[in-house]
Amino acid sequence: MIKKVLVANRGEIAVRIIRSCREANIKSVAIYSEPDRTSMHVRYADEAYWAGPGPSGQSYLNIPRIIEIARESGADAIHPGYGFLSENAEFAEKVREAGLIFIGPDAEAIRVMGDKMKARELMIKAGVPVVPGSGKLDDTDEDSIKKIAEEIGYPVMIKASAGGGGKGMRLVWSPDEIIDAVRRAKSEAQNAFGDDTVYMEKYLQSPHHIEVQILGDNYGNIVHLFERECSVQRRHQKVVEETPSPFITDEVRKAMTDRAVAAAASVNYKGAGTVEFLVDAHMNFYFLEMNTRLQVEHPITERTTGIDLVKAQIKIANGEPLPFNQEDIKRTGHAIECRIYAEDPQNNFMPGAGKVLHITEPLGLGVRTDGYIYEGYEITVFYDPLISKLIVWGQNREEAVARMKRALYEYKITGVKTNIQFLERIMNTPDFIEGKYDTHFISKNEKYLT
Ligand code: ADP
Repeated sequence: MIKKVLVANRGEIAVRIIRSCREANIKSVAIYSEPDRTSMHVRYADEAYWAGPGPSGQSYLNIPRIIEIARESGADAIHPGYGFLSENAEFAEKVREAGLIFIGPDAEAIRVMGDKMKARELMIKAGVPVVPGSGKLDDTDEDSIKKIAEEIGYPVMIKASAGGGGKGMRLVWSPDEIIDAVRRAKSEAQNAFGDDTVYMEKYLQSPHHIEVQILGDNYGNIVHLFERECSVQRRHQKVVEETPSPFITDEVRKAMTDRAVAAAASVNYKGAGTVEFLVDAHMNFYFLEMNTRLQVEHPITERTTGIDLVKAQIKIANGEPLPFNQEDIKRTGHAIECRIYAEDPQNNFMPGAGKVLHITEPLGLGVRTDGYIYEGYEITVFYDPLISKLIVWGQNREEAVARMKRALYEYKITGVKTNIQFLERIMNTPDFIEGKYDTHFISKNEKYLT
């Protein structure tokens, strides 16, 4: 039985994991880098250990040091959160080799799903629809690249197999650009991910990004917790998420959740995971990738299903069977999440650093904030600029949107620039209010947003 969890992360997600540990009567161990010495997760945890200097490679990505801290503190399990080592198969393996519990799926599931091209191949076998695309591209064979692109049909996207975080994608409109684009994509992929494997995918012109939350236990039981609509994106990165999706019909929802469970089953998935789909204007859906960890936007699912996903992860890691089956999982009302970033929308969304002079977080019916900054906290440039997530719930979408506007109005942060006003503008944009938007929402609605 897990009695003490080391949280190999920082920021809001570390705090969020520690909260569930405390409720479950499990001790928590924080790790921190030098600039994070006074960070909130360090204060909230039962114990905290210095992991290394500011750069992540020497602290939050430092596998030997993290395992050493787990040993020293007597932790019996490690929760990786999201980002950092959460999708590192080697880390999952090393944790288990050290006799500790890794709160997440098997290394093999992480490895397969972390390779977008391999994941596509596996999905085809499992009967899950994928975006029309290619296998590995060989840039010395120009003719075949051109032929593949013709077959798929322009525009196409060149993607890094090891890509993530919205990076490593290239849009190509015509045959004159394709060879150059493949070469550039390969060298970018090599530099960013240490792997130059790239493949081609059809570029869907006005897609929705809709994903399905999955939970699987060690006994082959897999359930879904419905979908999240994540089409409000900037540079392929999510900004606002909501559930239910205002776009799909119940029939499509049923088919998508069914295929998501099949996708997870094909890798014998254990723990919490997310199957991402692109959905075109005709509601055809295609597997995009599977994230083998907790997502940033998981709270909207928690709010509408009543299931604490972190506690569920811990129970599964403990070897407990899922305490519910698919029919038991009900979704009520509507939830929206806004990602609050320390960035300056007036200056090309440049991430900001500095001391937080004042912070007032919204409260009241149906409001949750998952954050970690406080008055006097010094935001550094070392890490992700996400400082808080604002989650609201309403009995229906209209109430949820009104509540989000009200909560954003109450949210006050001074000392560092944030995107709060930008988010308020999103909430006031007609296409958002009507729930009629795709992944181009932000670029299409510039006049409302600037
Ligand atoms: P990452 O792993 O870097 O987040 P994804 O493959 O999940 O990359 O894609 C991120 C986003 O990029 C999607 O939500 C979508 O907006 C856009 N995108 C990716 N592939 C395509 C495609 N084939 N056609 C259109 N948009 C795409």
